[in-house]
Amino acid sequence: MAYTVPKLKDFSPSTLNHAEEDLLAAFKQEAEDVRRLAQDPTTDLLGKRTAFKQFRDHWMARANGLLAQANENWLKAAPPKEKGGAGRTVNKIRALLKVGVDDLERHVNFCATASPETLAKVGASQALNLTEPQQRIAGQIDISLPGIHRAIGAAHPIIRTQNEIVAVFKNLGYSVAEGPVIETDYYNFEALNFPPNHPARDTQDTLFLANQESKPRREQLLLRTHTSPVQIRTMEKLTPPLRLVIPGKVHRNDPPDASHSPMFHQVEGLAVDTNITFGDLKGTLDHAMKSLFGSDVKTSFRPSFFPFTEPSAEMFVSCFICGGSGKRGNDNAPCRPCKQSGWIEILGCGMVDPNVFEFVKHNGYDPEKISGFAFGMGVDRIAMLKYGLDDLQLFFQGDVRFLEQFA
Ligand SMILES: [Zn+2]
Repeated sequence: MAYTVPKLKDFSPSTLNHAEEDLLAAFKQEAEDVRRLAQDPTTDLLGKRTAFKQFRDHWMARANGLLAQANENWLKAAPPKEKGGAGRTVNKIRALLKVGVDDLERHVNFCATASPETLAKVGASQALNLTEPQQRIAGQIDISLPGIHRAIGAAHPIIRTQNEIVAVFKNLGYSVAEGPVIETDYYNFEALNFPPNHPARDTQDTLFLANQESKPRREQLLLRTHTSPVQIRTMEKLTPPLRLVIPGKVHRNDPPDASHSPMFHQVEGLAVDTNITFGDLKGTLDHAMKSLFGSDVKTSFRPSFFPFTEPSAEMFVSCFICGGSGKRGNDNAPCRPCKQSGWIEILGCGMVDPNVFEFVKHNGYDPEKISGFAFGMGVDRIAMLKYGLDDLQLFFQGDVRFLEQFA
């Protein structure tokens, strides 16, 4: 008979104790079934892994796993006075189940690849005893036993990459600026020299907030499509000279796929001073790319167009995966990240368009007297290249088993 998490009539220590024992007994029984199946040489690899996943979901699934139900029926349902005891019980169960599931996963993985001879031995010796940790803790507390290991978090690979990029520019004397993710049309488009009919303003690309129609266009709110509004916001506050690096989240109306996400990350930079030239831009970015990808990489600039810079360029770095040859490994396999060209497009850049300075001229940004360059790069893409991934979605699915590889 399948176990169900009971609703409790009272939350006394003895009731909680019984409920806990029943739950752990059911867990143990079910784990034992999976363990036997894993050791069975006639079950194929997929069958073993599927059985384990079903078991894990049955107990641990966040939405309606048995642990979640225990949390609901025993802890959340407990009256305030008895929350303490119920909380201890549920916490203990959570820790035990975690240990049990982890042990079983190791066992199933081991059995999934073991030879039939090894499996026979494992079956006979009972070498891996899932029930042990439960018995260890379920009785009296033994202070000589190791404590329950609590995993410490780590920076997400995207944030880590973002921090690395920011650090390169901080070392060059740049300050870090941040700004709101919800922006006005004025800061996101108008002050950056996007003409009123520019395709990027189209609702197909930009996520506008609902019910804004009655407001004047420039006050309408949207999710910023780039971190560039922070350039204008900062120039309104600070007089030149200025050296800024701007990391942050941006949004566009792109359905998620292997290389697109409606939410992604950018790092932009801005340098404004007297006599800033395109040579400064090239020197700065060449240095930055060597710091990020290694001193061997070469950079190449190709003409491009952005509304807020003139002239504009796309910058490419020589492929740091194949060393610029377009081929990989001994069998000369085609290098996918650079599409065999030996070059990877890494960022957009250019000299700040004088029209952009006109919007902040009152604060010392007279385009007759000062000049500047700006650049922007996609952090997510750089992280994919750096970690050799071909699916952007992996970063955003929140699967700890994936993410902990980068911890
Ligand atoms: Zn390559």
